[in-house]
Amino acid sequence: IDFRKAKFLISAPDIAHLDEYLPGDAGIEIAFAGRSNAGKSSALNLLTDQKSLARTSKTPGRTQLINVFELDEHRRLVDLPGYGFAQVPLALKKKWQKALGEYLQERKCLGGMVVLMDIRHPLKDLDMQMIEWAVESEIPVLALLTKADKMKQSERMKMVNEVRKHLGDFDDRVKVEPFSSLKGIGKAKVLGILDTWCHP
Ligand code: GDP
Repeated sequence: IDFRKAKFLISAPDIAHLDEYLPGDAGIEIAFAGRSNAGKSSALNLLTDQKSLARTSKTPGRTQLINVFELDEHRRLVDLPGYGFAQVPLALKKKWQKALGEYLQERKCLGGMVVLMDIRHPLKDLDMQMIEWAVESEIPVLALLTKADKMKQSERMKMVNEVRKHLGDFDDRVKVEPFSSLKGIGKAKVLGILDTWCHP
């Protein structure tokens, strides 16, 4: 798959209604999730070699919006709204979590999920929740430890190993890789993994 061919397809106002905008029983989708500011947009842009494919919205009111990008006729990338905004009311957070859980269980075309976490503070509660839900729904997970350039090589590998150990119970259902959109760390490896998800 040539990820550079990614192009914007649709925006859905929220995850609960994605299926009405784009029926999910055909093709393969790879979803990208992470706390807001984890580096999701930057990662999408690096992986597709497009400077502004994904844009961030730092506005909590817009966190529900999902953007779908087409790779080819059968394959898509889905940019899920960032989670973990401190300012968002609890009720809205709960609603969002519920919609996300349902999405993972019901979206038939979901072939894999990338969970992006800042390497300096990975595995927050919501990250763990995402990973656990995906595993329960038998969706393979790639945990990307972003902004890896912020750490020295030795610290970086130590963190990667700690996270791998922490997620060890999931065996090969959850892969963990360091990543940097700034320096290109992990790019080839990630593209390789996404490609295998595109060819089940
Ligand atoms: P999103 O909210 O998850 O989409 O995150 P963004 O991609 O908008 O990135 C959030 C902030 O982190 C921005 O200020 C980026 O410049 C910065 N950032 C993203 N990726 C990297 C990276 O690989 N290295 C460094 N040093 N900063 C990054």
